[in-house]
Amino acid sequence: MIERAALVYLDYAASTPVDSRVAKAMTALMTVDGNFANPSSTHAAGRRSVEHIAHAAGQLAALLNTDADRLIWTSGATESDNLAILGGAHFRQERGRHLITMRTEHKAVVDPFNVLEKQGFEVTWLDPETDGVLDIAKLEAALRQDTQLVSIMHVNNETGVVQDIEQIGTVCRARDVLLHVDAAQSVGKLPIDLEALPVDLMSMTAHKVYGPKGIGALYIADRPGVHVDPLLFGGGQQQRLRPGTLPVQQIVAFGMTAEIARSRMSDDLEHLRAMHNRFWSGIRDLPGVLVNGCIETGFPGILNVSIEDIEGESLLLALEPLCVATGSACNSQIQEPSYVLRALGRSDALAQSAIRFSFGRPTRIEHVDFAIDRYRSAIEKLRRIAPERVQ
Ligand SMILES: *Cc1c(COP(=O)(O)O)cnc(C)c1O
Repeated sequence: MIERAALVYLDYAASTPVDSRVAKAMTALMTVDGNFANPSSTHAAGRRSVEHIAHAAGQLAALLNTDADRLIWTSGATESDNLAILGGAHFRQERGRHLITMRTEHKAVVDPFNVLEKQGFEVTWLDPETDGVLDIAKLEAALRQDTQLVSIMHVNNETGVVQDIEQIGTVCRARDVLLHVDAAQSVGKLPIDLEALPVDLMSMTAHKVYGPKGIGALYIADRPGVHVDPLLFGGGQQQRLRPGTLPVQQIVAFGMTAEIARSRMSDDLEHLRAMHNRFWSGIRDLPGVLVNGCIETGFPGILNVSIEDIEGESLLLALEPLCVATGSACNSQIQEPSYVLRALGRSDALAQSAIRFSFGRPTRIEHVDFAIDRYRSAIEKLRRIAPERVQ
């Protein structure tokens, strides 16, 4: 019933549209006049594919201030997280089998740790403070002689909470413990300098930053003791760490995406801040509205709000044609309160009423104003009919 054009999309933390320049370059590369050759082939066409990949790796490396040969291409951040955590833990298991992460991590981190627990590793699950941030003293207290790997995300995908990666990394380095960072929500959006940061493994993905779905990377620091066991077997590509024919067009797209992100990062951030501030100003006076995370220190692309006495699924329906998220996108089939918000100390009811609004490059003031209007009228309407819904 709803016209496609009438949808208002404020779910950029779930995925972003591909930059049209990137989409064009990618398409041109795949067809007969492009560069479809297998980069593993030794003929001239194959060598051209290799050059395209090398160029893209240089673009991504420049965004992160690292060397291109530190980057392993993957299918996305889920695979990068799995490779870092399973591969990292297995590589270092002779030294010890204790690992540390947080309860607010993405499922792509939580689930590999669950697998490792079943394999006999011991995992310490740290809780954040009520603003979502990790108290560094809790990390220090959790580190043991046999701790091998810590995994803590940079920007939380549900709340926009930003962790102090530098401080966390410094603590880990002092104990010779590897730090893996899921940076799916921050690469290309916040400044990241891998020369300066004490980070050993970092996961990233193109589709959260205006690149295509299905391509990501894992950064592996050039330091003794930093390595991962592969998850896949079948060829010599990428130092055998991640074999398989490299998807040239996806990689070229990720490279372009990185270059574009680098050139406009401060403009993007300023834009997100403006959208975020306008939205928050428009809803903050609503009775019972609560921010999940922190308005001042959070990533401005994401604003997650709960509201008292309102049920989330009804709210989401009442918000249509606004495209926003309840819980996290990956869990939206299951009507369970978000485990991330529960870890911030939210009650089931408050966690269930949470809506994540996330802004992007295409977001305009009109979209934000539409969202404010929808949210306010949805709350009003649901509160009017609330007595019948409560049982
Ligand atoms: C989106 C996301 C992922 C998964 O990335 P894919 O590329 O979709 O596999 C992992 N971690 C975080 C924090 C994310 O936001």
